[in-house]
Amino acid sequence: MNDSATQIVQQVRERTISVSEVVEQSLTRIAGEGARLNAFITTCEELSRRRAWQIDQEVAAGIGLDRPLLGVPVAVKDNICVASAPTTCGSQMLADWMPPYTAMTVRRMLAAGAILVGKTNLDEFGMGSSGEYSRFGPTLNPVQDELSPGGSSSGSAAAVGAGMVPLALGSDTGGSIRQPASFCDVMGFRPTYGAVSRYGLAAFASSMDQVGPLARTANDLRLALEVIAGSDENDMTAVAGLEAPQRAAEGARYEFAVVKESLEAPVTESVAAVVKAALARLVAAGHRVEEVSLPFGEDALAAYYLIAAAEASSNLARYDGVRYGYRAERVETLLEMYERSRGEALGDEVKRRILLGTHALSAGYVDEFYNRATAARQRAAEQFRSVFEQADFVVMPTAPSEPFRRGEYAEDPSAMYAADLLTVPASLAGLPAVSVPFGSRDENLPVGVQVIGQRWEDYRVLEVAQILEDLR
Ligand code: GLN
Repeated sequence: MNDSATQIVQQVRERTISVSEVVEQSLTRIAGEGARLNAFITTCEELSRRRAWQIDQEVAAGIGLDRPLLGVPVAVKDNICVASAPTTCGSQMLADWMPPYTAMTVRRMLAAGAILVGKTNLDEFGMGSSGEYSRFGPTLNPVQDELSPGGSSSGSAAAVGAGMVPLALGSDTGGSIRQPASFCDVMGFRPTYGAVSRYGLAAFASSMDQVGPLARTANDLRLALEVIAGSDENDMTAVAGLEAPQRAAEGARYEFAVVKESLEAPVTESVAAVVKAALARLVAAGHRVEEVSLPFGEDALAAYYLIAAAEASSNLARYDGVRYGYRAERVETLLEMYERSRGEALGDEVKRRILLGTHALSAGYVDEFYNRATAARQRAAEQFRSVFEQADFVVMPTAPSEPFRRGEYAEDPSAMYAADLLTVPASLAGLPAVSVPFGSRDENLPVGVQVIGQRWEDYRVLEVAQILEDLR
């Protein structure tokens, strides 16, 4: 299915296609290409068919035609809870866990007329950048099988990239929406921290976790954001702060600041060339581009990995064999139950993070590690702030390279952290950021151009995504 969500809604409203037909197309593609790419952990055939039939009845009766996602099949990353299906987080720990409630973002999409067709594969608990750390096996990249689809929202990016669904939800802590979007040649948007409720998202690093959409067009991202954004009494950080979703005035001219350091090594020359080509088109279209220095580099990466691990070590303490999911068998003491349940059910990468985070927070080390990392986080936010005094948007590549091969980091897993070099700064600062595919023309590999805006200017960032989409 190559239609966008926007086109599907229009066709359903005009009754040129039934929701059942749309859902059938999506399910067929999921059963074929989806299975081959291992994009889904759970599919919801029966439920989605029943819901499609129901919406078709409503459409026939003229009920609820104005629902913004009327009849749109959507996929949801499997760390976002849906009461009618298991939520595994890609982990043995939660392999059989059925959540008792549905995430606010999913509730809003369903109320808007979307149909949930399945839950997508991910790196365990959202930790990883390659789609290889799932208990349910690796996801393949729809562009080329041997490539990594990126991570951790690997299945959502593959599902959108391969045309199984026009729209999917992912989560982005340090880049998990944007980087897989870049690798799978689709659009991915990380909203301002606090713009979208995290209620029902399995917590990884709560000060940075955000839910956001992946789609093939900027307009679909915007449609999704309008549906999922807003305050929620279940998540104290979710507030109604977004400016009104209006289109920029015809012929609006913007000031873009391109980060000089992001076009130099370790960023590959071919990635830098794609971003420069995109900037040249913006200039030709009458926008202004200036070069700025934002030297957060390695500091931001180290700060992110430390803060994320520290928060993860606390958030994942709840998986102890008592309250959720996996419990080791034949244990003699309570301590042995904790140790073996966690030891047996959590993967290596998750354990690495918990160890690192616990160490960083332990007495005597807090100043040296955690407090230094939060200071670096402050600096990154301040550096962005000073750039935004002169520019409307910051531009850099989404990832330092084209998609790498699966297995490339098998020997040295922490080397993979460098894949997040350019996505973590916006995460640390809580800023909205979009990845727009720009590179796969002329048989090249996918490259995403990242546009970062000021807090709460999410719709303006998506306006730029639209401008870039039109200039490709
Ligand atoms: N790849 C990063 C990490 O492993 C980001 C993950 C994410 O955003 N969920 O921490």
